[in-house]
Amino acid sequence: MLKLYNTLTKKKEIFKPMKDKKVNLFICGLTVYDYVHIGHAKTYIQFDFLVKYLRWKGFKVFYLQNVTDIDDRIIKKANDTKQNWKSLALKFEKEYLEDTKNLDIDSINKYARATDFIPQIIDQVNRLVKKGYAYETEDGIYFEVKKFKEYGKLSGQDLNKIIAGSRIDINEKKKNSEDFVLWKKQKPNEPFWESPFGNGRPGWHIEDTAITEHFFGSQYDLHGGAIDLIFPHHECEIAQQEAASGKKPFVKYWVHTAFLNMGSEKMSKSLGNIIRIKDVLKKYDLKVIRYLFISQHYRTTLTYSEELLEQAKNSLQRLQETIYFLKKGKDNKKSLLLIKKARIKIERALDNDLDTPIAFSVLFELSKNLNKIGGGRKSLEFFKEINHFLGIFDFGEANIPKEIIKIAEKRLKARSQKNWQESDKLREKLKKKGYLIEDIEDTYSIKQIS
Ligand SMILES: [Zn+2]
Repeated sequence: MLKLYNTLTKKKEIFKPMKDKKVNLFICGLTVYDYVHIGHAKTYIQFDFLVKYLRWKGFKVFYLQNVTDIDDRIIKKANDTKQNWKSLALKFEKEYLEDTKNLDIDSINKYARATDFIPQIIDQVNRLVKKGYAYETEDGIYFEVKKFKEYGKLSGQDLNKIIAGSRIDINEKKKNSEDFVLWKKQKPNEPFWESPFGNGRPGWHIEDTAITEHFFGSQYDLHGGAIDLIFPHHECEIAQQEAASGKKPFVKYWVHTAFLNMGSEKMSKSLGNIIRIKDVLKKYDLKVIRYLFISQHYRTTLTYSEELLEQAKNSLQRLQETIYFLKKGKDNKKSLLLIKKARIKIERALDNDLDTPIAFSVLFELSKNLNKIGGGRKSLEFFKEINHFLGIFDFGEANIPKEIIKIAEKRLKARSQKNWQESDKLREKLKKKGYLIEDIEDTYSIKQIS
């Protein structure tokens, strides 16, 4: 049985969705005002892995992600660069979708833009006002934190300490320093929507709960994001939705991924220490990046370095070589037994809060043993099966034309007969046709020259 660490209860719990094997899952998406950096890639690859693993285990997951396309930062950047806020948001949304595609993050069922859910947002704000949880000021509608007694339960903070520790932003006209904004009234030169509380735009926290309430109702199974979203963002979401519906828990399992640091700091736009994923992808295959983030536990903080990527590249290459080797081999009793045992061990590790470091140590041990005793089609099938959620292996050939394979096979035969002249001739022939052949012990791998 799968166990996940739940930030809300602060322990590992058996994962049991609210209804049968159906999982409604929501991950905070990007604020689209700049390029995706490698820290985002860590978050979204790790959740892509979780969703794919859940599906592999037979859960029917609906993966929803929002797109924050209206925000102070978007407006500021649009004003600073003299462009329209909407076209700026659309440009970076397109970049985001392209980057996720380039990372093989394809598990998301629906992207929901905040600005497509304004009526739902207004409706939720309205209910909070009517129920007495929110109040109006001259610059907006605010949620009165004191009214929600359980505020702080996700981040494990005492409400009184939160109240004592919060400061009023001089630009805000709210009653209490800890209150947070639900609706911002229009300021000059800002985009706005009409609402019963005047022209304005939504606050950040409310878009998530309005969107998830629209798709999932007032309660759902799993909400995730990077660890910095626990407070205040996710804490505010709980307050909004549980206050609006009177039902709890709003979300059954809260899952948070640790940071990717740059030196001793978090990687973030405001610190100016970001590395764009586009630039990393120029140098490293997407599978190397996926391997790096999946092989490390999602709750472990990583410090970015190029050495880390180099190590990942080498480790992945070792596993990949086993795959090439298995293509040419035959299964035997020993290899089949090894596969059977490894399968159990890997699933057991992943069921324990996605313990990928253990799962990969099992995989490396298996790979080492198969290299010794051999293995064939059934061993390869196993690698293909786990690749459904790992997404790091290349089984090649599928896209290589038959004609090319034929030449490669001919060359393999020439090599086994030590006919080096013929072998070199065939290598050249392949090169002319745009394919690179690499010898691996008594087999080969072919790659298209890009
Ligand atoms: Zn969010």
